[in-house]
Amino acid sequence: MQTKNPMEFFRNLPSKQCPECGDVVHEQAESYLMECDRCLAKKED
Ligand SMILES: [Zn+2]
Repeated sequence: MQTKNPMEFFRNLPSKQCPECGDVVHEQAESYLMECDRCLAKKED
């Protein structure tokens, strides 16, 4: 089965979860990190 729309493929990917707090991590094109924004901000301390 082929997906006509490449965006459809990405939408169907399971959401990443933050290993720190379990929150859903929203994919960011330039982000290769696993943690959510909140936990990343904490780590920058
Ligand atoms: Zn988190």
